[in-house]
Amino acid sequence: MVGALPDPDHPERVVLGGRELTNFSSNDYLGLRTHALLIRAATDCMQQHGFGAGAAHLICGHSIEHAALEVELAEFLGRERALLFSSGYLANLGVLSALASRHDLLVADRLNHASLLDGARLAGARLRRYPHGDIESCARLLENQGGARLIVTDGVFSMDGDVAPLRALAALAQQHGAWLVVDDAHGIGVLGAQGHGALEQAGLDAHSVPVLIGTLGKAFGSFGAFVAGDAALIDSLIQRARTYVYTTALPPAIAAAARAALGISQREPWRRRHLLRLVERFRAGAVALGLPLLPSATPIQPLIVGDSARALALSDALLGFDLWVSAIRPPTVPQGGARLRVTLSAAHSEAQVDVLLAALGEVFARETVGVG
Ligand SMILES: *Cc1c(COP(=O)(O)O)cnc(C)c1O
Repeated sequence: MVGALPDPDHPERVVLGGRELTNFSSNDYLGLRTHALLIRAATDCMQQHGFGAGAAHLICGHSIEHAALEVELAEFLGRERALLFSSGYLANLGVLSALASRHDLLVADRLNHASLLDGARLAGARLRRYPHGDIESCARLLENQGGARLIVTDGVFSMDGDVAPLRALAALAQQHGAWLVVDDAHGIGVLGAQGHGALEQAGLDAHSVPVLIGTLGKAFGSFGAFVAGDAALIDSLIQRARTYVYTTALPPAIAAAARAALGISQREPWRRRHLLRLVERFRAGAVALGLPLLPSATPIQPLIVGDSARALALSDALLGFDLWVSAIRPPTVPQGGARLRVTLSAAHSEAQVDVLLAALGEVFARETVGVG
């Protein structure tokens, strides 16, 4: 489906083919992607300085907007430094290929984001994957395979919405002298009292998780990504992460918008609180309706339906209620794991969540009648 563009006053609504839909498919968790302050920051920057960065960071593309964003991200996350990448995908390729080589063992959750898998492949590292969230299998791999260099996990899993067993992974990493790398693309800005993400929620400090990756395209409503860590890590990425060195820097206006988003996310904690209340409301309603929920306490609330055709049919049926809920099918999720991936945003109202629940109740019930 072609993505319609939102009305700036309502990031959660889109007009598609003349119909206005409520969007339950985006990763705009804080409802910031149409915020006036992001638009103004980007517009002011563009009007004063033009659009393109002109070159890669190490040539002459690294502007004061990029530098300021890196400082603010590092401060926000309690790290010495942060380094911008042009996307989370590129950050993961760059980090893993810079930190591991073909002599190294890299241990990873089976449901990690595709970019982490590709990063491990690019590094040429020996990759061993443990079943999703299975800390005992992870421990066995570390014991049987010899010293691992990296343990790599998503913070919040993008298609299941659950959070990795971060405390247990940090303990294993420490025990085995490995570095824990956490890609918290869906957690930063959303989880933890301050919005620092899954690590804040788990009570883990920078020492336990030396490499933290985040994106600016989800909760922060803009584009780009970053790695946060100590000065030595960032220096070595600047030297060795080829997806940092050999690509054009983000347009400075995008960095300016991301700075605005980071500021709003800190000044307006109500966005996180409201969002988490919506998550609870959705789950309570879905339980009452007997919908096939997964154990997720994040804004990613998948409903597992199994068969791809069935997931598509349900998604289509929801369009009839002016609701946009995307069907996610293999290979994005395992065979037999097709689902409706509902994502909630601080831009949604309780009433919109209630409309979604009523519609889900109806389409799932209709389907049962149809099949029966
Ligand atoms: C979305 C996502 C990415 C990719 O980030 P982009 O900035 O969109 O390239 C990486 N890791 C995870 C876990 C993600 O969900």
